[in-house]
Amino acid sequence: MKVVVVGGGVAGTAAAWAARRAGAEVVVVHDRAGASALASGAADWDPWEAATGKHALDADAALLAAALGYLTDPCVVCTASGVVRAAHGRDRAVLDLGPLAGRRVAVADITRDDWDAELIARALGASAWARTTETRFVPRAIGFSAAEYGSSWDLAARFDDPGEREALTTELTKAQGEVDAWLLGPWLGTAPGVAEALADRVGLPLGEALSLPGGAAGARFESARDTALAQAGVEARNEKASGVLHGDRQLEVKLEGGDRLVADRVVLALGGLLAGGVRLDEARAGFELSLDAPVMLQVDGQSIDAVSTLHGVDLAAHGGSFLERVGIATEGAAACGEPLVFVAGDVMADRPRTWLRALVSGLAAGRAAGR
Ligand SMILES: Cc1cc2nc3c(=O)[nH]c(=O)nc-3n(C[C@H](O)[C@H](O)[C@H](O)COP(=O)(O)OP(=O)(O)OC[C@H]3O[C@@H](n4cnc5c(N)ncnc54)[C@H](O)[C@@H]3O)c2cc1C
Repeated sequence: MKVVVVGGGVAGTAAAWAARRAGAEVVVVHDRAGASALASGAADWDPWEAATGKHALDADAALLAAALGYLTDPCVVCTASGVVRAAHGRDRAVLDLGPLAGRRVAVADITRDDWDAELIARALGASAWARTTETRFVPRAIGFSAAEYGSSWDLAARFDDPGEREALTTELTKAQGEVDAWLLGPWLGTAPGVAEALADRVGLPLGEALSLPGGAAGARFESARDTALAQAGVEARNEKASGVLHGDRQLEVKLEGGDRLVADRVVLALGGLLAGGVRLDEARAGFELSLDAPVMLQVDGQSIDAVSTLHGVDLAAHGGSFLERVGIATEGAAACGEPLVFVAGDVMADRPRTWLRALVSGLAAGRAAGR
């Protein structure tokens, strides 16, 4: 069985991993960074405003999430603008405030334009969670110059170097009297393992606030993905796919460079509107995928054509979050009417765009495709 997965986000990675475990020969094709490479480091099942309780995941989901550097237990995370919230999982480098309820958390005070420790500590301390749990946040100066690192990504890359990590360990250890944990910005490595190594050396719980788009959490995802796919024996190609065609008995995936990949099954894990997997074609005032494929686009249970007017799609009729729901119509894990084409992640119509749903739908598509 030959499976081609288009998309290297969490959904495509999960599909490739599961299809490979089902015994298929698998190629993943992906081009630019998608939502998984821009994400915050929190993993939710429902959009977090609507999050409720714990969502049970099967053993494969937890195993793959761990390989991608994520823990899948309920936790409490925070942003650099002082928002505290529950999540269903997190990048291991992100600090879980849950076990620190009622304790004293130091907010690392280093000179950077995008990190004001005094303000962050005040905002976190004023949050409903901190007030209810009587958790205190205190800015704590550390003698570390970071002003010369433009983006938080650059600063995170600095701590991939064990020597730089050791220097930070020394400064944190010097500064840490009477605190129970350290909160830092999203700077703890572009490869997985840096936060854990630092916490071990410092001897206190330690971790990041959530990343802004394009930050360290996304970089760690890409690094962990490449390792997980290589270890699973999946071939990865960094190229744009331009179309999926029906051959006599098989499918063909056309690559922009000219190659054609023959496949028994194809998984489309292209991402949603935000990542460019689904696009708004302004000239036609309609939607299209980033490649030609024999699939139907849908929103709110109706094919896009059925909801369009003569002047294109009637955006107003579907409310504000409509763009978030446009995607490929599916029956189970397969595309409607196309039993050899499977669909996963944010490109599925009418599903919340969250990390855990992308992972779980990717596993389902990969298992079905690899059979
Ligand atoms: C800024 C931001 C913050 C977020 N925060 C959270 C959060 O706090 N909690 C949470 O649960 N979720 C969050 N999400 C959502 C979550 O990250 C996504 O739901 C999830 O990562 C989607 O994964 P995916 O694999 O479906 O798509 P993506 O990660 O978007 O992957 C799509 C892939 O398809 C590839 N691709 C598309 N078209 C082609 C083509 N023609 N040829 C080749 N490759 C192609 C792209 O290169 C990419 O690799 C956030 C997303 C963003 C952007």
